[in-house]
Amino acid sequence: MLSQTGRSGHSRRDFLATAGIGALAAGGAVAMPSSALAAAPVPMAKSASAKLQPFDIADVHLADSPFLHAQQMTEAYLLKLQPDRMLHKFRVNAGLKPKAAAYGGWESASLWDEINCHGHTLGHYLSACALAYRSTGNKAYKQRIEYIASELAGCQKASGAGLVCAFPKGPALVAAHLRGEKITGVPWYTLHKVYAGLHDSAVLADSANSRAVLLRLADWGVVATRPLSDAEFETMLDTEHGGMNEIYADLYFMTGNEDYRTLAQRFSHKAIMEPLSRNRDRLDGLHANTQVPKIIGFQRVYEATGDAKYRDAAAFFWKTVAHTRSFASGGHGDNEHFFANADFAEHVFSAKGSETCCQYNMLKLTRALFLHDPRPEYSDYYERTLYNGILASQDPDSGMATYFQGARPGYMKLYHTPEDSFWCCTGTGMENHVKYRDSIYFHDDRALYVSLFVPSSVAWKDKGAILIQTTAFPDEATTRLHWKLERPTDIALKLRHPHWSRTAIILINGVEATRSVEPGSYVELARTWKDGDRVELRLVMEPAAEVAPAAPEIVAFTYGPLVLAAALGREGLAPGADIIVNERKYGEYNSTPITVPTLAGDPQSLAKSIRAGDKPLAFAITSVEGTPVPLVPYHRIAHERYATYWQVKPVTT
Ligand SMILES: [Zn+2]
Repeated sequence: MLSQTGRSGHSRRDFLATAGIGALAAGGAVAMPSSALAAAPVPMAKSASAKLQPFDIADVHLADSPFLHAQQMTEAYLLKLQPDRMLHKFRVNAGLKPKAAAYGGWESASLWDEINCHGHTLGHYLSACALAYRSTGNKAYKQRIEYIASELAGCQKASGAGLVCAFPKGPALVAAHLRGEKITGVPWYTLHKVYAGLHDSAVLADSANSRAVLLRLADWGVVATRPLSDAEFETMLDTEHGGMNEIYADLYFMTGNEDYRTLAQRFSHKAIMEPLSRNRDRLDGLHANTQVPKIIGFQRVYEATGDAKYRDAAAFFWKTVAHTRSFASGGHGDNEHFFANADFAEHVFSAKGSETCCQYNMLKLTRALFLHDPRPEYSDYYERTLYNGILASQDPDSGMATYFQGARPGYMKLYHTPEDSFWCCTGTGMENHVKYRDSIYFHDDRALYVSLFVPSSVAWKDKGAILIQTTAFPDEATTRLHWKLERPTDIALKLRHPHWSRTAIILINGVEATRSVEPGSYVELARTWKDGDRVELRLVMEPAAEVAPAAPEIVAFTYGPLVLAAALGREGLAPGADIIVNERKYGEYNSTPITVPTLAGDPQSLAKSIRAGDKPLAFAITSVEGTPVPLVPYHRIAHERYATYWQVKPVTT
């Protein structure tokens, strides 16, 4: 659930990417871009201080892999959802007759009335459709966007106001919040999703209707918040407000309107920002996903204003969360809250650890920071969290997503329902799998960065170049790249040497060109490339143990960027036992205790004892009981019990 008031509460939101086109047939044939999107404007105004640019997701193509499968599952889900059901309460609040019944979960179930998240799904849905459209060019997504935008424009017309909302009590909730009255729920958190969905639709799907609705909504926000003193505004920000500072900075970049930039600063929660900007971690006890979107906004406000305090706060937050507060999976928190690092042992085995929204937002933050400061540690964290948090969060069979991904030994991933869940992670879950393309490759004027090892291609139109990546990673520790070039071209190819690989050997056209012994770096290959040139990157993956500093007897095992999970079967579980209808009951579903194997010994020695099986990424470790325990990548666990963290016993002699 969301937290609602005070410094210990509040949470949620989303994103985005960039400019262009590109196409690579699945069979490997390559063509320069020819999509109908070619004339679309460059999405998302870039900040002058960014060192790197992302590629337009339309210029990146995914070849067959679990990432493409996940994208396709989400694409199908998006087209099954009915816009009129998401628009139900927006129409009611504008005095219009609804056209279909509202969806369940946070959107209408009385259990969640007081959190006032009604309407958040529509915002996430718009963002997801915009991403899916930009990725695939499939006009069905664009039609959904235009329909929703025209309906929201109709709501604005009928009500005579810029505010569109689906709260049970309508705009009165927002008015009371603005007056500083006590309310329940998180109106700005929810409105942020609507703003962001319209923004993504305007930028990625070139939707003029979405832009018009958005600007009217944004102007309403400017006028509605103007009477608040700075102190009153700061008090209002004690309640979860998503990334309202981020979206107003985005709006400033979109329009150049100074009112939006000013409001981006006003929506920046100084009580959180000030200590972070001085490298002070005061996050213990705070609601985690309330904070992460604010921090993304701090970075965006820095980009809009040049005020280094905001950037410093964002960079320090990332550092302290990624390096000191994150699990091996890249997730964090217990029951949605940051806990004291000294209490790691009390919290790590919770069924309500690692809220998936937090991983979604941490990846947004990581990406934003990387563009300004392309440090390999950002890429390493991104890869780890992408596999063990994001890819791991989708049911590969149904396409539905997780809320928590806790490490209670023997627990399971629980997936939401298609029509009766609609909580925060359902919304971010719609976006997660249609934006894998946005962080595989980056560039500056001279260099192309290969950050992730995913079967794919990227078209760099300014250079007349296509780079094609072929790999079975992580089933193999190698990736292969080759160029399609219109003419010999000077490009510095920057290949990531991940922190988890002792060495990186690079071959060009079959001949060893260089060898890196610096894990956690980018290896540069600057040369004049010719059409057909081939590059091979050979890495080393091996089992390793990751121990928590505050609890050295608690260990997770990894293999490259992958967390290994014990696959513990599904004994005693009926089909469908891993579908959850009430997110508040996480931990109560399938709670029958089961006996999990025990491990004993020194964690590093245990890691060395992990044996490879006869299939890629299938391992085993021997328990104290003498039985082999199968270990597989956590992201491949679905519909069965698992264990990712172990309380290792000392060796008894
Ligand atoms: Zn969530």
